Amino acid sequence: MTNPLFDLTGRTALVTGSSRGLGHAMAEGLAEAGARLIVNGRDEATLAEAAETLRRRGFDVTEAAFDVTDEAGVVAAFQSFDAAGIEVDICINNAGIQHRQPLLEFSLADWNRVISTNLTSAFLVGREAARRMVPRGRGKIVNIGSLMSQAARKTVTPYVVAKGGIKLLTQGMAAEWAADGLQINAIGPGYMLTEMNEALVANETFNAWVKGRTPAGRWGEPRELVGAAVFLSSSASDYVNGQILYVDGGMLGVL
Ligand code: NDP
Repeated sequence: MTNPLFDLTGRTALVTGSSRGLGHAMAEGLAEAGARLIVNGRDEATLAEAAETLRRRGFDVTEAAFDVTDEAGVVAAFQSFDAAGIEVDICINNAGIQHRQPLLEFSLADWNRVISTNLTSAFLVGREAARRMVPRGRGKIVNIGSLMSQAARKTVTPYVVAKGGIKLLTQGMAAEWAADGLQINAIGPGYMLTEMNEALVANETFNAWVKGRTPAGRWGEPRELVGAAVFLSSSASDYVNGQILYVDGGMLGVL
């Protein structure tokens, strides 16, 4: 029998960027633990398909297509949840993008796009969620960081800056809202098998580097984030705040 501390029955979870990849896997895992879902992405057709896949498994799924970098769009989405009587109990700030280029060649427009999609979005969506959670005296926010919340690599510096920011935004949110009954934590995935990394998996040198550099000796599967996501979304983590939990096959722990 599952420990009731991990039961999400009766809770509603918004997972940004859940039309594919890690967000989709985490959303599915939260639904398996009992949560109702609000799925999100920009492309409505992809989102509708993803929602349908989840509904076919019997889950309660609401679609909310909005751009997490657009303040007005984020505010309108939460107003539509209010109007429909939907309370977001769990907010997973997962939507993100990568853009690889040497820093000498990085344009300001690309810098801004990476920072706003990976960092400012968690502020915008997290703030709207918390504005409703604080009066209720409870809520869970889980921000998705990365190995790069902790360590840099060439050609992805704006992403490193954004993900480092996610770690401290998580601590800042905990400083602001922990006394109001909210828990705000982060997950730092290692190298996972998603669309974002297709080119890296296909690159033999990079693929061998990931396998050699990761103590587990392999890439992570999106499903392997579910345990951390359920833990940080459930009562099991009610006294955990401001932490980043790395799910990386041990990579950050070794040289
Ligand atoms: P994918 O590219 O597979 O999926 C990204 C998702 O985010 C899609 O659903 C996409 O939908 C959505 N999205 C992108 N931009 C926006 C936006 N502006 N507004 C709303 N939705 C958006 O990425 P992953 O699943 O690989 O990554 C998910 C998160 O995990 C990211 O934050 C990433 O940085 C992080 N991460 C990933 C790792 C990995 O190895 N894959 C490792 C460490 C961290 P659409 O395009 O339709 O908007």
